Amino acid sequence: MAEVKVSNVIKKYGAVQVIHGVSVDIADGEFVILVGPSGCGKSTLLRMIAGLEEISGGDVSIGGKVVNNKPPKDRDIAMVFQNYALYPHMKVSENMSFSLRLKGVAKDEIERKVKKAAEILDLGKLLDRYPKQLSGGQRQRVAMGRAIVRDPQVFLFDEPLSNLDAKLRVAMRVEIKELHQRLKTTTIYVTHDQIEAMTMADKIVVMKDGRVEQVGAPLDLYDRPVNTFVAGFIGSPSMNFINGKVESREGRPVFISQHGVVLPLPETAAKVGQEVTYGIRPEHIEIAPEGLPAFVSVLEPTGSETQIFARLGEDPIVAIVKDRIGTRPGETLRLKVDHGRAHLFDKASARRI
Ligand code: ADP
Ligand code: MG
Repeated sequence: MAEVKVSNVIKKYGAVQVIHGVSVDIADGEFVILVGPSGCGKSTLLRMIAGLEEISGGDVSIGGKVVNNKPPKDRDIAMVFQNYALYPHMKVSENMSFSLRLKGVAKDEIERKVKKAAEILDLGKLLDRYPKQLSGGQRQRVAMGRAIVRDPQVFLFDEPLSNLDAKLRVAMRVEIKELHQRLKTTTIYVTHDQIEAMTMADKIVVMKDGRVEQVGAPLDLYDRPVNTFVAGFIGSPSMNFINGKVESREGRPVFISQHGVVLPLPETAAKVGQEVTYGIRPEHIEIAPEGLPAFVSVLEPTGSETQIFARLGEDPIVAIVKDRIGTRPGETLRLKVDHGRAHLFDKASARRI
């Protein structure tokens, strides 16, 4: 196992710069997730850590040694991709042992390692099958098996679950997490799916346009996003944002939306007169008689909860409530915002106040 340090890393493709000085410290044994919208540079960064992509500036070090100029095979890493590309003409056991055979590892040691990995991944009964005789989830496990037998210092995953259906994705998420708890190998995992990031990571790195927006534990990002981008990206459904201004009412600062809706403020350093964005998560809004009138446009009951799409003044707002509700679209109900859990951002800079 090893720590990984990414220091001020830059990537240019010709004249186009796609990574703009990224720094991330990954502790020994940590499970870190790089998350962000498509095209933000996650794969490029991971591939630079793997040695598959040249580094245009800055340093990558693994286990305390700068590896910028080391080829992938000398970095002691194992990578699992989205399209895990098993060799179709090889049995599961052969797929798993391929890299070890290539390295000339002794036969009995290969057997021992494949057996152990197969046990960990519950592949014991499938070792003699060919990839086409496996389900999607089993194939993904074989791909992980290939990585495990190498016993690397660092696992690198690039969207390993994107090709699986929703149910299998959830199951594999749990498996990968269990695997990490068991092996405690330093892991860097790329996904565009914030739920995957929230549920699996010790630490999340949120990226946008080749830059790091915020690094933190999942619940830190949820509780204290540093800007509207992170606030909107983490959490599902997304945080509601209402633009407006801080004004004084009866000697106290309150938020007033562009359309005149008045909301109490959380503890904040916002100044009277400041243009702000008020952020409130759907789960922090409830139906209550003392709430503000909201016009309901769509209701989505999922069984366990109801998503309410409504308008507060002119502003669209989404609320999630645990109850099943009798209100119909086109009617009005009263929504109460838990203002203690609201987030306030400066409108101009989008930064948390
Ligand atoms: P992500 O994995 O977050 O979706 P990528 O790391 O694949 O994003 O891509 C980041 C940016 O770099 C994108 O704008 C992409 O178009 C660009 N890019 C990736 N690979 C190349 C390449 N070989 N040549 C030029 N541009 C590239
Ligand atoms: Mg990618």
